Amino acid sequence: MKDILPEQAVRWQRLEQTFRSLVGRHGYGEVRTPLLESTELFVREIGEDTDVVSKEMYSFERHEDRLTVRPEGTASAARAYVQHNVAALEPVSRWFYVGPMFRAERPAKGRYRQFHQAGCELYGDPGPACDAEMIDMCAELVGELGVKDFIIHVNSIGSGPTRARYREALAAYFEPHRAALSEDSQRRLTTNPLRILDSKAPGDRELSANAPSVVEVLADDDAQHFAMLRRHLDALKVPYIVDPKLVRGLDYYTRTLFELKITTGQLGAQDALLGGGRYDDMIGNLGSKKAVPAIGFAMGIERVLEVTAREEAKLGPACYLAPMTAEAIGPALVLAKALRAEGHWCEVDGRGLSLKAMLRRANSLGARLALLMGTDELAENQVTVKDLGRHEQERVAIGGLTVAVRARLAMPCVPSELSEKASPGG
Ligand code: AMP
Repeated sequence: MKDILPEQAVRWQRLEQTFRSLVGRHGYGEVRTPLLESTELFVREIGEDTDVVSKEMYSFERHEDRLTVRPEGTASAARAYVQHNVAALEPVSRWFYVGPMFRAERPAKGRYRQFHQAGCELYGDPGPACDAEMIDMCAELVGELGVKDFIIHVNSIGSGPTRARYREALAAYFEPHRAALSEDSQRRLTTNPLRILDSKAPGDRELSANAPSVVEVLADDDAQHFAMLRRHLDALKVPYIVDPKLVRGLDYYTRTLFELKITTGQLGAQDALLGGGRYDDMIGNLGSKKAVPAIGFAMGIERVLEVTAREEAKLGPACYLAPMTAEAIGPALVLAKALRAEGHWCEVDGRGLSLKAMLRRANSLGARLALLMGTDELAENQVTVKDLGRHEQERVAIGGLTVAVRARLAMPCVPSELSEKASPGG
């Protein structure tokens, strides 16, 4: 779990703005659900044999309730969708969310116990057109966020009958190798052989490499759905490959599955920036009167920030007010207030430092203007405006200060070797 300090938070805010703006243009509105849900919700929807439910949830009991801090966003959003009977209000709903998720995973590069996801859910459209549109939106999203080298893996695991056949095919394949499987996977062989495919144990992985592919058992309507999806993706020129081994670690998926991976190797094994898929049965399972197909994805914010450029011009205050005597501090507060009312970022340094120390501080903050107020200035009702971006200074009457400040901030900075740290303020 990590702290995000103000300097880093700027990048988070920018990422979130880009996300909100892009999904907004696709018609998604924000849903905010509680961080706690009943444990039962995740156990039922994500699946008992998944790593998330069997090992990673932060669950506890309080009074009569068994609660879990959400490990992902899809189940909570679906619970809200059903609880508020949204299906009766509109045929298609597009929701997005941004927020922290919690999984007690073994820490690794790019893997945290509190991490953040930005995700979308689309209810009421069986696809495959909306599946293609969502996958294309994901490609556009990471592109806008500055990720260049990526590929999207897509697969279909079919609907109910296909998955039942696939489970049988996998059980038949793994059974003769039972002894070579990890303890977890031996159990999964009976309960849910599909989950063996996302086991991280090296022995399991080796065996999984030659396991039958879901494509071999895909029902006709599933195969058609998948073929149409690929046709739309081709038309949209989405960079994708078909990956028959992609199963993703949650039980609720049906048909379309996708994962966007970076190809630079920067994140080691944790190379997925986002993942998603269709879950046509969940809304019905949650007790909705109407069966409602759905599809969604979630993007890992930490991972995107880890692979995108870090160098950002540091923005500093427009005005750094430097009172040079104790008497000047009061007038400096009043001036700062007036300048802020004009929309400028101002900081007053009331620590009683020397002029030299205050100028050093103004430079390190990246302030554009230092407003110096000493005994002389105070006596004449003036301020010395030191333009750190242009290496100029002038005396200005207090009455004309807001006009002078606005004029200075509109002028371009002049680069200088002497004050490398000065950067555009305001
Ligand atoms: P999932 O909810 O497991 O489908 O994951 C969707 C995306 O969330 C992944 O592709 C990652 O980018 C991100 N993610 C999942 N688990 C973690 C974690 N423990 N730490 C950081 N990011 C994660």
